[in-house]
Amino acid sequence: MKIKSVGVVGAGTMGNGIAQVFAASGLNVVLQDITQEALDNGISTITTSLDRMLKKDKISELQKNDALANIQCATDLQALSEVDLVVEAATENLEIKCEIFRTLDQVCKPEAVLASNTSSISLTRIARETRRSGQVIGMHFMNPVPMMKLVEIIRALQTRDDVYAVVETLARDIGKTPVEVNDSPGFVSNRILLPMINEAVYTLNEGIASVEAIDTVMKLGMAHPMGPLALADLIGLDTCLAVMEVLHEGLGDTKYRPCPLLRRMVDAGYLGRKSGKGFYDY
Ligand code: NAD
Repeated sequence: MKIKSVGVVGAGTMGNGIAQVFAASGLNVVLQDITQEALDNGISTITTSLDRMLKKDKISELQKNDALANIQCATDLQALSEVDLVVEAATENLEIKCEIFRTLDQVCKPEAVLASNTSSISLTRIARETRRSGQVIGMHFMNPVPMMKLVEIIRALQTRDDVYAVVETLARDIGKTPVEVNDSPGFVSNRILLPMINEAVYTLNEGIASVEAIDTVMKLGMAHPMGPLALADLIGLDTCLAVMEVLHEGLGDTKYRPCPLLRRMVDAGYLGRKSGKGFYDY
């Protein structure tokens, strides 16, 4: 099976980036969200991103227009009835995702593959909601999607080998580098990244060094492009806390307990860049 058309559920931060990347690779995309406003915002973000690439001579005017013409918008999941693949990128909430997958299972053609971009919810759990659990898989794109090369492809316990192969080929066709990962809390990316960030918060909490000192050690000493505390502010401290809770609960090991300082900062509404204050002021 060759994937020619894709449905993207959710037009937020990740969904609009995913839609852009597929459309720019010549696939037909149906972008779905619950409100017209979310869709309009998504299309406007995609247009700004394509304009930036045009200015940098990375794409031509024709390529920009073709990409935009490849995207249709819809507020009803019924519009995804004919697509070959759906990538769900709606709000990170188990109930919302289960409901979406149950509906997709009803409306999509029987051979369609159903993927989720979830960062922390079990694909094995989501797959159970459908009668085609062998065709459910994770496609974990990184933010910002048009810039970042990696896609973690997550195999649920039920995922069929031929479905994995189709999705892996597609990831390469759209210019990404796929990495095969089995379903487990945090997959590989967040299993390694978030405990490092959490440890940086412990280091700060114990007064071992200042925010700037911790970030400088990791930037200059480990060649990280960004220090862990600056990165936590970028990701959002609420998101960091949520992922640590998934690791702690899912793996049952105290080494994943979220740092009390991280929890206190979230309680105070210091969420990082999005709230104007985190480990740094913005
Ligand atoms: P977001 O809040 O920016 O966007 C979510 C969108 O989903 C919103 O536009 C919302 O209206 C829509 N939505 C909510 N319920 C819906 C429904 N029932 N049907 C259709 N659309 C619905 O969130 P985001 O950051 O884009 O995250 C989306 C997914 O991507 C999550 O599963 C998240 O874990 C994952 N993810 C996020 C990042 C990141 O850095 N933000 C990175 C990797 C993966």
